[in-house]
Amino acid sequence: MIYNPFKSLRFRIFLIVFLTGLISCLVIHSAILESYEDRAVNVRESEVSTQLMILANHLINYNYFSDTTSDVINAELDLLANLYDGRVIVIDSDLKIRKDTYGISEGKTIISDEVVRCLKNGTSGSTAVYDKNNGYIEMTAPITETLTYESGDVARELKKQDVVRGVLLISVSTDYITATMDILTRRAITIELIAIIVILVMAVYMSGRLLKPFDRITAAINDVKAGYTNEPISGANYFETEHIIQAFNQLLQRMNALDASRQEFVSNVSHELKTPITSMKVLADSLIMQDDVPNEVYRDFMEDIAAEVDRENQIINDLLELVRMDKKATPLNITSVDVVQMMEIILKRIRPIARKHNIELTLETTREITAEIDEVKLSLALMNLVENAVKYNKDDGFVKVKLDADHQYFTCEVSDSGIGIPEDSLDKIYERFYRVDKSRSREIGGTGLGLSITHNAILMHRGTIQVKSEENVGTTFTVRIPLIYMQSLE
Ligand code: ADP
Repeated sequence: MIYNPFKSLRFRIFLIVFLTGLISCLVIHSAILESYEDRAVNVRESEVSTQLMILANHLINYNYFSDTTSDVINAELDLLANLYDGRVIVIDSDLKIRKDTYGISEGKTIISDEVVRCLKNGTSGSTAVYDKNNGYIEMTAPITETLTYESGDVARELKKQDVVRGVLLISVSTDYITATMDILTRRAITIELIAIIVILVMAVYMSGRLLKPFDRITAAINDVKAGYTNEPISGANYFETEHIIQAFNQLLQRMNALDASRQEFVSNVSHELKTPITSMKVLADSLIMQDDVPNEVYRDFMEDIAAEVDRENQIINDLLELVRMDKKATPLNITSVDVVQMMEIILKRIRPIARKHNIELTLETTREITAEIDEVKLSLALMNLVENAVKYNKDDGFVKVKLDADHQYFTCEVSDSGIGIPEDSLDKIYERFYRVDKSRSREIGGTGLGLSITHNAILMHRGTIQVKSEENVGTTFTVRIPLIYMQSLE
């Protein structure tokens, strides 16, 4: 067998545990770092935007656009630029750069969407853009002057109006965020490496541990297979393994029962086969030991020996019949059979024995019955029943055979006025070699195999057999067979 790791449950459990650990590690890693970055950028933006608002107010108060040489304001601008390691640019309403803390673009005109939007929309136009790749945040804030004037109408109310005088453009370095992120990432990787090693060890341990019960079961089953033990296996840890153990133990129980019944069968067979041989040996020995045995005695003994040979032959024939039926592979020879006619032939064969004991043998049918059956096997089965009804009867008794059918089954009822079967024997009569009264059965030439053969043949036809009996009153066997043979689905 080629080893394919994906077919191994152990490997799959290992993989699942390991990947779950690893993926959650990576997700937590990136989620934490990203949320840190978002938060750091937000904090910085709100800090800077407050500073910009304050600064914009100062610019208006100091009338910066008329005089850009104000030391106070320029110092404030430089301070802000230094504080955030960035660059502050002051732009007037003509898009002209009036102050650049880098001092390189003053006097130039700036054309930037953000600046234009900010000029147009005032506070609502201020923007903040985080450029992650280049490591800065660019923000714009309007420089707004609030004008107060009297309304032209009669009420002469004081009115206020915001006028955008210019825009503050600032780019703030985010190097410190990147630096913190680097440190965090390095720490996270160290923790992750440790976590991965722990997860790896856990995955190996878990995959081994979770499958231990299965290994134990395999070992136990192997022990049974090797023949060390026949005891039921135990040690269930999970429901699943308990089910396996239960199923296996049931199988084992069945195997043991089969084994026991086979052994019993073999010992019964040897015993049954030995009995006629022992009788023959005794008969033959007694002839040998005597000198000048009269002819009649010889003849008598030889007749007895011949009877024992017949018996032996009968047992062997019955056994062969049973073995043939036991083999599941033996196919039934199914044909359409006239059951009434078949029964008449059976009765004809048994009539001479019945007549000997003056037993009345009758057949009762109400209709024609045609069924799909194996004629030889089923006729043997039914003949055994009728034969038993005659054999285990009393002189001058009766045997009634009743045939009937519905649209699915036909039934054959064999009732007699015989000695009956004791209640505690009723469920044993189909066992091989079982006889209620051994000596009587042997006397009348029984082998104890007849009903086993009958039972098997009926089961092969998917039929049923039932028995009712009362001691010294009589016995009734009822057989039910499907009219149409159904092939097994197996
Ligand atoms: P056997 O060859 O001894 O007849 P069977 O298997 O045919 O063996 O029958 C088993 C035993 O069942 C018989 O030995 C007998 O004791 C009992 N038995 C079977 N049929 C009848 C019956 N109709 N009436 C009374 N006993 C019966």
